[in-house]
Amino acid sequence: MEGAGFQRPDLEGIRRGLRRPRHRLPGSEPRWPRRRRRRNSTLTGRALRPAEIAAAISSRPGPWAPCATRVMRTEVEAAGQPLEPEDFVQLPVPTIQQLYHWDCGLACSRMVLRYLGQLDDREFENALQELQLTRSIWTIDLAYLMRHFGVRHRFCTQTLGVDKGYKNQSFYRKHFDTEETRVNQLFAQAKACKVQVEKCTVSVQDIQAHLAQGHVAIVLVNSGVLHCELCSSPVKYCCFTPRGHRCFCRAPDYQGHFIVLRGYNRATGCIFYNNPAYADRMCSTSISNFEEARTSYGTDEDILFVYLDS
Ligand SMILES: [Zn+2]
Repeated sequence: MEGAGFQRPDLEGIRRGLRRPRHRLPGSEPRWPRRRRRRNSTLTGRALRPAEIAAAISSRPGPWAPCATRVMRTEVEAAGQPLEPEDFVQLPVPTIQQLYHWDCGLACSRMVLRYLGQLDDREFENALQELQLTRSIWTIDLAYLMRHFGVRHRFCTQTLGVDKGYKNQSFYRKHFDTEETRVNQLFAQAKACKVQVEKCTVSVQDIQAHLAQGHVAIVLVNSGVLHCELCSSPVKYCCFTPRGHRCFCRAPDYQGHFIVLRGYNRATGCIFYNNPAYADRMCSTSISNFEEARTSYGTDEDILFVYLDS
């Protein structure tokens, strides 16, 4: 790649272990461990084989993970409403925390590959080198990554290529022109490379039906909009709007962030997801907040469906 402004992934740094990222993801407030945690502590552990996951799904009233379910039961039961396992879909997707401010997409890919029982750290790093995945990771890069591992996928987006309108968005401004060329080439070569890309609109019902079959998805959201109902986050006041009224002072700036979808509540529709900013939790948000975050200007409504039978 001739892009002079790009740095190769700091593989040596990755090998040495975790580093404190230079920036935090706005709105996600990751709690970086004071002491460095060995990278392996978050990246190792036996993955469930697809056959085991399929067995767990078929032998239960609904797709759910027994141990993870217990956590959700506690959360929900604390609110006074006992739930049965068939009330929600909750897939055993492991959480893997991102290492830097820029690699949430790679952390999501790792989670998905481990869920599929296909994560091999060395092979993953080789893939990053081969695909030249640098500090700017687009959804199309993740689709190529899935293809590299032979994982069945379908990337849905509103824009096949780069939306010129993003040029002046602060999030995209840096290296826009070089990236535009690179990303447009990836789209152009997708079919020949057997990367599945479609321009299409996806409904939340489509997403839930996908999850109900044990499949997962990586979604691009505006992290300034996404709000987890399980994580306590302080209310931010920026004006004197009366209590309970929405503030229109300022639309939240676009901050692209990838998350992994892993289930939903059948009664409320709430979406369960892993946020790579955190190492230790599953997050949950309402359908309306999820829809707002993923359709926010800047996301192109990118969603990468990944299939269990890969
Ligand atoms: Zn959360």
